[in-house]
Amino acid sequence: MEFVKLSNGVCMPMEGFGVFQVPEDTCEQVVRNAIAAGYRLIDTAYSYQNEKAVGKAIQNCGIPREKLFVTTKAYIQQMGYEKTKIAFEESLQNLGLAYLDLYLVHMPFGDYYGAWRAMEELYETGKVRAIGVCNFLPDRLLDLCYNARIVPHINQIEHHPHYQRTKELALMKELGVQPQAWAPFAEGLKGMFDEPVLQEIAEKHDRTPAQVILRWNVQQGVIIIPKSVHRERMEENLGIWDFSLDSEDMEKITSLDQDCPSMLDTREVSEVRRVYDYLNNPVLTSLS
Ligand code: NAP
Repeated sequence: MEFVKLSNGVCMPMEGFGVFQVPEDTCEQVVRNAIAAGYRLIDTAYSYQNEKAVGKAIQNCGIPREKLFVTTKAYIQQMGYEKTKIAFEESLQNLGLAYLDLYLVHMPFGDYYGAWRAMEELYETGKVRAIGVCNFLPDRLLDLCYNARIVPHINQIEHHPHYQRTKELALMKELGVQPQAWAPFAEGLKGMFDEPVLQEIAEKHDRTPAQVILRWNVQQGVIIIPKSVHRERMEENLGIWDFSLDSEDMEKITSLDQDCPSMLDTREVSEVRRVYDYLNNPVLTSLS
């Protein structure tokens, strides 16, 4: 495992474990398996509705809290200075933790400027070690950077061989914002694991296409948080730290770029509607 130093000096694992779509009733065991397999960074969110299970896994895993890196996110109905402060405490309580390692604005919607002011204060009081955003396109990210006291330490974005976002990565580098890839496999959509280029490179290195995808990410300095409920895949996805892709491999993967999201396009009216419709979930509306 390698680590990256964020702009504030905090060390963060380059690979972690995501728990989106892991149901609350199985999530504790899944996260305990992931920690036993070697993951130390766990990525959840208030909207995943499994923070309590993640918290139980952290308490029962036998690894000291300070050896783990725990991320959660505030969702749209939790945006706004007061609401985000309340949301932070609720997430901490759900997780059974005294502090968070990383707290993120989940979507570039709602009063995220108010949310950001709350996050800056939470960071300054030491309740969270790093703060950041998700799904911020370059214009939103740059605008936030111009108006914030603290530049986001992280921008968590959809990033995989079908959506390579090279110019955005360059901008983040310029701003000192660390990129983190969600859905590094695009959840397998559009035949990701069957891409002949990835299969050929995997064969060359005696690895799997999944490992090639993850390695491609980290070699660009992008943190990864793959999700799997299967123990053998958790291990497979961690087995990327003893080989590297050469420049020819990296160049070949460049050809897979479709330059559009496979999962979430925050510029699409239908997507914005879908995201807000999700708020009709009764559990999620409890805060608004
Ligand atoms: P992903 O990691 O790209 O893909 C997960 C899917 O790939 C699952 O169906 C999993 O199946 C399968 N898989 C995992 N490892 C595999 C392997 N080695 N070979 C074949 N299939 C494999 O997608 P994701 O879960 O959407 O994204 C990862 C994490 O990013 C999430 O869990 C979440 O923490 C975060 N995320 C953040 C946002 C955001 O807006 N900030 C959005 C989405 C996700 P099994 O589980 O059945 O093995």
